[in-house]
Amino acid sequence: MSTVQAIRGTRDILPEEVGYWQQVEAVARAVLGRAAYQEIRTPTFEQTELFERGVGEATDIVSKEMYTFRDRGDRSLTLRPEGTAGVVRAYIEHHLHAQGGVQRLWYLGPMFRYERPQAGRQRQFHQVGVEVLGSADPRADAEVIAVATDLLTGLGLKDLRLEFNSIGDRSDRQQYREALIAYLTPYKADLDADSQDRLTRNPLRILDSKDQKTQAILQEAPSILDFLSPDSQGRFEQVQQLLTDLGIPFNVNSRLVRGLDYYTHTVFEIQSDDLGSQATVCAGGRYDGLVSELGGPETSAVGWAIGLERLILLLQQLQPPKPANLDFYLVSRGDRAEAQSMKLAQSLRQTGFSVELDLSGSAFGKQFKRADRSGAVACLILGDAEAESETVQLKWLASGAQESLSQKDLLSQTEQLRKQITALKK
Ligand code: ATP
Ligand code: MG
Repeated sequence: MSTVQAIRGTRDILPEEVGYWQQVEAVARAVLGRAAYQEIRTPTFEQTELFERGVGEATDIVSKEMYTFRDRGDRSLTLRPEGTAGVVRAYIEHHLHAQGGVQRLWYLGPMFRYERPQAGRQRQFHQVGVEVLGSADPRADAEVIAVATDLLTGLGLKDLRLEFNSIGDRSDRQQYREALIAYLTPYKADLDADSQDRLTRNPLRILDSKDQKTQAILQEAPSILDFLSPDSQGRFEQVQQLLTDLGIPFNVNSRLVRGLDYYTHTVFEIQSDDLGSQATVCAGGRYDGLVSELGGPETSAVGWAIGLERLILLLQQLQPPKPANLDFYLVSRGDRAEAQSMKLAQSLRQTGFSVELDLSGSAFGKQFKRADRSGAVACLILGDAEAESETVQLKWLASGAQESLSQKDLLSQTEQLRKQITALKK
């Protein structure tokens, strides 16, 4: 009979890899918590309309990447392709704006996009993201970038590049859009097919094209930076000054645009050369237009999202997987010994130790081999003789040193044992 396999573009995260995920989640929680960001958890599916309005019909995401389906009540639903739209919906729905001040939120979870799977690009992938709602202050732009940098360096990542740009406000962008269309139209036939299609729908996105011929044509294209109003230009310079004051290096890249319609002013990406063609780990920017677009009050906002699969690819290049973090491996054989070992394991766990109980009933030799592979600090051994005397053999696996002690003593000397184990784990 044929077996059922995971859907193309999805992946199982097996126990040997899950340590990296837990590490990323722990560092994210710590770094974001220290900057006073609060976690928000929104549903995995939403009304399709939310993304059509919030992400924009002209974007790749909405036009060709969404998992959209009708439920049994004939509603059009979509598996979320990104996190911002849902967070903003919740912000409006629960009147978080009425609490006044700035809301700093973060989320982590799976996202879904129908794209061509390759390394660092999946159909179900994960993002951690932040949204700062209710501040137009350039310090908010600098803060979210600083927090992203702290998160990435907190994981030990190096050689990251911050690419930084401004796409101005709506009116700057409208003028730039027209200039770009005017410049590109005579070359239309020489553009790649996608870019020809984008010429009227979403011309800024052509700057992203990977096609060489299109890129050559773009060499002489007008730059968005020549279309910034004095106000937009001022903001752009302020954020750059703040980044410089914070000691965060960046590269102004006037070709950097985002595919999402709601961005204004600041846009940025954090890239790594160690990721092949999927180089962007973190992408974000300011989106002053989104909250009102979705029916809320005019609200300034800025945020980013980090792709966790790409982050973990980088971490894996940097450090070997962490071995299991086990205190004791408990080996036993014979009816009485097995009964006592079950209780001993449970008592040790209740005092805070981690204990793996060998359930195989196989010969001691085989159980010892598994103990060696388990990553435990010590092995506890219970045979007929120990069961008889209610003792246990304690073997330190690194040195091989072994001692015999009563089960009672083992459970009463927990403080000392904990110290010994902690020292040996270092
Ligand atoms: P790309 O140009 O790589 O498709 P994007 O502009 O679609 O990126 P965003 O929507 O800004 O990406 O998402 C932010 C981050 O989420 C990306 O920089 C990337 O790290 C990650 N990401 C996006 N799509 C995927 C995917 N299909 N698989 C894995 N990670 C992804
Ligand atoms: Mg994409």
